[in-house]
Amino acid sequence: MQDSAPSRAKRSLGQNFLVDHNIQRKIVDALGASDMDEVLEIGPGKGALTRHLAGTVRRLTLVELDDILAANLQERFAEHSDIRVLHADVLDVDLGGLFDDLGDVLVIGNIPYNITTPIIFRLLQRPRPRDVVLMVQAEVAERMTAAVGTKGYGALSVGIRTVARVQRLFKVGRGAFRPVPKVESALVRITPRLPEPLCPEEEVRVRKLVRATFQWRRKQLRKILRDHPSLSLDVGRVDAILEDLGIPPEVRPENLTPESFVALSEALG
Ligand code: SAM
Repeated sequence: MQDSAPSRAKRSLGQNFLVDHNIQRKIVDALGASDMDEVLEIGPGKGALTRHLAGTVRRLTLVELDDILAANLQERFAEHSDIRVLHADVLDVDLGGLFDDLGDVLVIGNIPYNITTPIIFRLLQRPRPRDVVLMVQAEVAERMTAAVGTKGYGALSVGIRTVARVQRLFKVGRGAFRPVPKVESALVRITPRLPEPLCPEEEVRVRKLVRATFQWRRKQLRKILRDHPSLSLDVGRVDAILEDLGIPPEVRPENLTPESFVALSEALG
């Protein structure tokens, strides 16, 4: 079964509505929420996923930026005390302040592709939700899950995997959306690691190291650590640390595992 084609989708808001009911249900099933769970849906739009969640979970919070779609959802769920609709930009919302304990919350969304990375890193700021299921561009899903040393492996892969586990669940073809997007999509699950693998200060340091090294991904690690303006480390110290960790100085960032980035960051202090 399919929904009818929506009118006036806004490209600026990344509106590609999911019209295939089987896929809608499959996505909601992948979240695995029970009637004990609190769920946050990002970008509910016309309610493609919402319709399968409403009434099945303890509490549902919808965050939608589009004026008309948010107003429609507010009207549609006005009588539902277990559903709240926020007309807001998800990137501006204080997620920690929205819930008693964000660590208990499950997040779902067929999100706008132009802000996929900011949304993911927003969700991975502390406090973090319990689990996240998102529809992203297939190519982004590949980068998130890319093996070390492959073309897709980069700052996104490492940034996410130092604090969470990522799984690519299944692909969704372009025909499941209206309007039909130019690219294929995939559903991913991002599960923040518990206990927290890094302290907050360490997280900031790792992020800085990862960002700087991948800006110069073709260069050798030793040279990046020495020459990158945001690192500028003493070469003698760099050599000693790399030797200590058993990391060859000529290695390129794309060949360093997330664990090695963490170990290197910790050693650099
Ligand atoms: N979930 C619906 C579906 O599957 O059909 C809509 C998906 S559409 C790809 C993305 C939705 O996110 C749109 O409804 C859009 O208006 C909304 N949106 C775009 N930017 C947003 C933002 N910054 N914060 C919250 N919602 C946003």
